[in-house]
Amino acid sequence: MPLSDAVAAARILGDPSLDLAILAEGNTSARDTEDTFWVKASGFTMREITEGGFVLVNFAPILKAFTGDPLTDTGVRELLASSRAQETRLMPSVETFMHAYLLSLPGVEVVGHCHPTAMLSLLCLEEAKVFAQERLFPDEIVCCGPASAFVPYVDPGLPLALAVKNGVEEYVTQHGSVPKTMWMQNHGLICLGKNVKEVESATLMSLKACRARLGMLGSGRKIVTLSQEQIDRIHTRPDEHYRQKLLWEIAAKASQDI
Ligand SMILES: [Zn+2]
Repeated sequence: MPLSDAVAAARILGDPSLDLAILAEGNTSARDTEDTFWVKASGFTMREITEGGFVLVNFAPILKAFTGDPLTDTGVRELLASSRAQETRLMPSVETFMHAYLLSLPGVEVVGHCHPTAMLSLLCLEEAKVFAQERLFPDEIVCCGPASAFVPYVDPGLPLALAVKNGVEEYVTQHGSVPKTMWMQNHGLICLGKNVKEVESATLMSLKACRARLGMLGSGRKIVTLSQEQIDRIHTRPDEHYRQKLLWEIAAKASQDI
């Protein structure tokens, strides 16, 4: 169910032991119908969020803002309020624009956004874009894609959503598919998936890759990344796709067994 998916993704990203988000950082969303989606309400903490911390929003008015005249802060607040598809006092997150756009992409049903400390250590370095495009080990390709899209720093809200749209379009031109992961300069990570498990795998594997890279940078030794040929081979190997599917099925069964 889309609402329980949005809650489950938020609980995972808000788990304090993972160091992905603290306080009200981050947000998640899930497509509900062709016309609506659930998104985290403003001000909620992901670690203890329940279904009551999400708002049902209409796609159409939010997506329309991408092509309209620039909005003032008041205009943004009014649009977010009027886009709600349910009676509620809650306000959708200011990142609702970004979520609406990403959930409108083919094959994307769940979106998770967080601010992992280990990733911020890399996102605030000059080489962040290069790091986003490189791959260090095979499972990073399987879970996070052959590269991550990169989004330069901009203000939150609609400007960020427009920058995310640009980042996706650049990625699609280069790789011919929608990205699984997006690195946002001086900000954080977005993971896109067909379900919660895909978002979880992409988030945790991105975190692992960042921690590994930090260890390498700390060693002062030369880093060996995978070549484009090696990346392409793993990305297109059928057995890797089988392993990826198996990984999610095992993870889904484990969470049902708890
Ligand atoms: Zn953020």
